[in-house]
Amino acid sequence: MISVAFENVIKHFDRGTERVLALDRVTLEVPAGQFCAVMGPSGSGKSTLLHLAAGIDSPSGGRVLVDGTDLAELSDDQRTLLRRRRIGLVFQFFNLLVTLSALENVALPLQLDGVGRREAERRAGTLLVDLGLRERLQHRPHQLSGGQMQRVAIARALVSEPSLLLADEPTGNLDSQAGEEVLHLLRATADRRRHTVLLVTHDAHAASIGDRLVRLHDGRMVSDSYGAGASAAG
Ligand code: ADP
Repeated sequence: MISVAFENVIKHFDRGTERVLALDRVTLEVPAGQFCAVMGPSGSGKSTLLHLAAGIDSPSGGRVLVDGTDLAELSDDQRTLLRRRRIGLVFQFFNLLVTLSALENVALPLQLDGVGRREAERRAGTLLVDLGLRERLQHRPHQLSGGQMQRVAIARALVSEPSLLLADEPTGNLDSQAGEEVLHLLRATADRRRHTVLLVTHDAHAASIGDRLVRLHDGRMVSDSYGAGASAAG
């Protein structure tokens, strides 16, 4: 299990002469094993926060610590390895490779990390079956429903057995029933595998599955509360 912490994090983007402040002094510590939802309207800085936690982007000020290590102190290679082995990423638009089957999509991260194809596909298959996709292993993404595609994407995020799961609007492209199933799957999987989760969403219902709810507005943290769904609405 690993923790993730933002210490007085500032992130700005320069667009021509204009400076956009995407994150404005955000301090947030997500302890190991916590399921933290971050909610805010479009443009409030949610994706930026996740990109910083994943080490895909770096802060303009402050520190981002994963498992107590300042990401800025790692080399590019170390950050890549951390992302590959300890962090699982789930996106709104699934980001599956269209020419590959479900099984091949899920096996790919392991193969990129040097695991042989047979072993990678064995582990991918076990996980897909576990996530209820036994009948879909050889299907390509276009042969799957949105909910099934997201389950494949979740399997891909989990196949390297990461400790930290980062999810960016995982239900944003799903109908309400498929969204509900994906939320339950994420929650059950995180509980079973004791993941630390940072889930960002603009949707109050999706945010309500967390143990904790943090709200962002214009790059600032405006509230932080605990208790399943207690204050996600409104
Ligand atoms: P959210 O995920 O809550 O919709 P984002 O983190 O995507 O918000 O964006 C926060 C702000 O930062 C927005 O004003 C957005 O336009 C800006 N922003 C995000 N990424 C970039 C970028 N790569 N270049 C310029 N501006 C960006």
